[in-house]
Amino acid sequence: MNKQTLLNHRPTDELVALNAAHHIQPFANGAVTKTTGSRVITRADGVYMFDSEGHRILDGMAGLWCVNIGYGRNELADVAQRQMQQLPYYNTFFQTTHPPVVELATKIAELTPGDLNHVFFGNSGSDANDTNIRLVRHYWASKGKPTKQVIISRENAYHGSTVAATALGGMAHMHVQGAEGIAGLAHISQPYWWVGGGDMSPEDYGLKCAAELEAKINELGEDNVAAFIAEPVQGAGGVIVPPSTYWPEIQRICDAYDILLIADEVICGFGRTGNWFGSETYNIRPDIMTIAKGLSSGYMPISGSVVSDRIAEEFAQKGGDFFHGYTYSGHPVAAAVALENLRILEEEKIVEHAANLSPYFAEKWTSLGDHPLVGEVRISGLMSAMQLTPDSNSRAPFAQPGSIGKIFKDIAPENGVMLRAVKDSIACSPPLVITEAEVDELVAAAWKTLDQTQEKAKAEGLLTA
Ligand SMILES: *Cc1c(COP(=O)(O)O)cnc(C)c1O
Repeated sequence: MNKQTLLNHRPTDELVALNAAHHIQPFANGAVTKTTGSRVITRADGVYMFDSEGHRILDGMAGLWCVNIGYGRNELADVAQRQMQQLPYYNTFFQTTHPPVVELATKIAELTPGDLNHVFFGNSGSDANDTNIRLVRHYWASKGKPTKQVIISRENAYHGSTVAATALGGMAHMHVQGAEGIAGLAHISQPYWWVGGGDMSPEDYGLKCAAELEAKINELGEDNVAAFIAEPVQGAGGVIVPPSTYWPEIQRICDAYDILLIADEVICGFGRTGNWFGSETYNIRPDIMTIAKGLSSGYMPISGSVVSDRIAEEFAQKGGDFFHGYTYSGHPVAAAVALENLRILEEEKIVEHAANLSPYFAEKWTSLGDHPLVGEVRISGLMSAMQLTPDSNSRAPFAQPGSIGKIFKDIAPENGVMLRAVKDSIACSPPLVITEAEVDELVAAAWKTLDQTQEKAKAEGLLTA
């Protein structure tokens, strides 16, 4: 442990108290922040982070699914410093631009599949999806089809936390906190076989869920539907890996009707599923892609909406002014850092590393399925989940849904690994640079945590078996 970093900040108890007094944390319970307090993370390197007490924790979530190249890459800091000295800020409104944003847009156009060749930049996945809502509606209006306004999304989808992105997402517990009543959105089922599949095979269930898209388009009328948006693999919803039948049928429906397909690649993009984009892994041909997180490996906030030639040409010819933009759209420092991140991903073949490691990762993660508390495992590239259950055969939920996942999540850092609970699913999404030995360490810590979770749940009467 580097003593210098410990000496650089206030003692932990002071930090925790001041944090509770002055910091409103996102997705956190204010009462718990005051009573239990928060863990203070002070530094990180590779796949490990360190808290203010010097505990070393393997970051099984790559931050929030974003630190794809791992921590501690000083090249990004150097680039940020140079860019700040040369041009710390200028905007990209009103026909001005700058070299970093031009280079980054060009690089993204090269990396993304098909004719996705044009990027509108934002600062977060949320605001990029807000952009997408306006983009697709403006597109259809420009095409002379102003009634095509509705965007179809999925239950339990996560598309961000702005008012519009919350409403676009499918999380009911978020909708009721100030995001109800946004017009022109509709939702269909998610392909979550474990919970919804009943007696059907996963393949049949995938088709059933996909068929809901066609039914919804017909119910609303094709002339009223602008787009369908989905994550290739739902991330924050619990790493819902779709049955193999799902995406081909969704793609067929999108092709058969005149609606745009938006792939929210905020998590899946930049190597997570073993290809540069989840759209490649699942054979999806989107008209628009949302990118963020892995675009900069989280080192700077930046996002983008990557759009196809067809959409960009319409905008260029008849769209007129697009009255939309953020002060920091294409921020030069964020753009320069993202570009350096992409250089590292490419030159160090980190996406190939993720693909090559994925069978090993899958084998180890699958072994967690032998634990009596685990019902199924779900894996795509280097992202995964395990579904906790009291009964694998009946796929029953726990008597108090979410209670066991929470116990697991709280114990895991004590065993040196950070994982995330989505109700009673445990999600994993490590930095893509993780090694076999680090995967072993992660899985061993997860197994130990499962044991302790089972013990604690029994002691608290939450497991009646
Ligand atoms: C994280 C996430 C977002 C929101 O990104 P922010 O940068 O947190 O606003 C949107 N879509 C998906 C799929 C995400 O995982």
